[in-house]
Amino acid sequence: MRRIRVRFAPSPTGALHIGGIRTALFNYLFARKNEGDFILRIEDTDSSRRVEGAEQYIIDALEWCGLRFDEGVGTGGPYSPYRQSERKGIYRQYAEQLVADGRAYYAFDTPEELDAARNECEAEGKTFVYNHLARVSMRNSLTLSPGETERLKHETDSWAVRFKVSENEILSMDDMVRGKVTVDTSTLDDKVLWKKIDELPTYHLANIVDDKLMEITHVIRGEEWLPSLPLHILIYRAFGWTPPKFAHLSLLLKPDGKGKLSKRDGDRLGFPVFPLQWTSSEGETAKGFREAGYFPEALVNFLALLGWNSGTEKELFSMDELIQHFDLNRIIKSGAKFDINKAKWFNQQYMRMKTNEELAALYLPLLNDKGLNPPLGYIAEVCGLIKERAAFVSDFWDLSHYFFSTPETYEEKSLKKYLNENSADILQSIAGILTDIHDFSKENTEHAVHAWIESEKLKTGQVMNLFRLAIVGACMGPSLFNIIEMIGKKETLYRIERIMNYEL
Ligand code: GLU
Repeated sequence: MRRIRVRFAPSPTGALHIGGIRTALFNYLFARKNEGDFILRIEDTDSSRRVEGAEQYIIDALEWCGLRFDEGVGTGGPYSPYRQSERKGIYRQYAEQLVADGRAYYAFDTPEELDAARNECEAEGKTFVYNHLARVSMRNSLTLSPGETERLKHETDSWAVRFKVSENEILSMDDMVRGKVTVDTSTLDDKVLWKKIDELPTYHLANIVDDKLMEITHVIRGEEWLPSLPLHILIYRAFGWTPPKFAHLSLLLKPDGKGKLSKRDGDRLGFPVFPLQWTSSEGETAKGFREAGYFPEALVNFLALLGWNSGTEKELFSMDELIQHFDLNRIIKSGAKFDINKAKWFNQQYMRMKTNEELAALYLPLLNDKGLNPPLGYIAEVCGLIKERAAFVSDFWDLSHYFFSTPETYEEKSLKKYLNENSADILQSIAGILTDIHDFSKENTEHAVHAWIESEKLKTGQVMNLFRLAIVGACMGPSLFNIIEMIGKKETLYRIERIMNYEL
């Protein structure tokens, strides 16, 4: 059996949309599962759309997600180069070969002539399509004499090679996701394959020639390329090459399921649609999943289940497990709704799987930003107490600031509820009890405070909430005795005193 080889072939036209990462992920999983090769090819033949920094962004995003490619731009490999602009010299001969075989032709129509043809059609309420009907009245090697064709080819440089689509054929194709796809070739246009002006191929020619030369066995790409499939199949046939197998992945849909997920949806609904932060050439910055605090493992897990399922109830998959379970036959045909709450849920699950020490290392820079530099061991202990409640490391401060600094304010509602004429006596007593405890362990303080509440026949809720308000500044957080053990006796007594002096 042939070695499985797949490629992720983005065009560096801006930030990679999250759907692109999903395409890369499915390629990666398929390659790993089949012990094949995963290749990164940069399709940059459309120089007008090339954007500075976009290629590096793609490489960085793949790396962040853990999608290591075996061959590609930067890494190299036996089919180098992997950047199409560097393969420029390869394509012309293939375009010429198709012309020689009668499968393509030279088109000499100038932009003005094409505009005129377009306008003429529009005036009749039609759209101009350079197809089998139009080609016979345009300036090309099918309508001009061989001598004139030769002359124009040598004397002008705005000509192109166009593919000659076969007419009136019902073309039947197999897609691994959609099944049989049938198209009447008369509906297709004669796409440009190669242009003299910049000596560059268009996407269609470069994509096919490279997939052939790089021995790609499976093309896994987004559904937006499905309309190009008939043309691609025809081009493979014209060359006499066996096409690879195709799998077109369904679109990622807006959260409400109505239409394709776009960058604007992210802005509108407040979530990222790019893996990493991206600053456009206009200077506009869009946050990425990384900057929004997502763990790459969580994002990968979330994306894997958008459009694929393992056939089981299991939702949490490590990369290795995804590789093990991945199957192109289980890709879902319908679009996948992008539910950001599900992404958050995954992040939360991965947060819980991290060790307290790992989380402490992630939390430390945030604390440093606030001018704090507590010992890592202490931060790790705090992380252990709060991680169940957080979805992101950026939630940590709100959930744990009282472990690191004395509350400056008290929650209004709780103050009204728990601070009254008896509060001073209660707080005084608690302070007295705590002062006498030498081993300030949570067991000791808990035992002493509860014994006192019982002996005084006080209401536990009332007393504990007041005590909590003094320590935390709000009625939230983990076990209060845990907290005071961590902040220590001195700080505990200081906080009790502080709320006693608080003027309502
Ligand atoms: N360059 C195309 C893109 O930007 C690749 C499509 C394909 O995978 O064939 O998505």
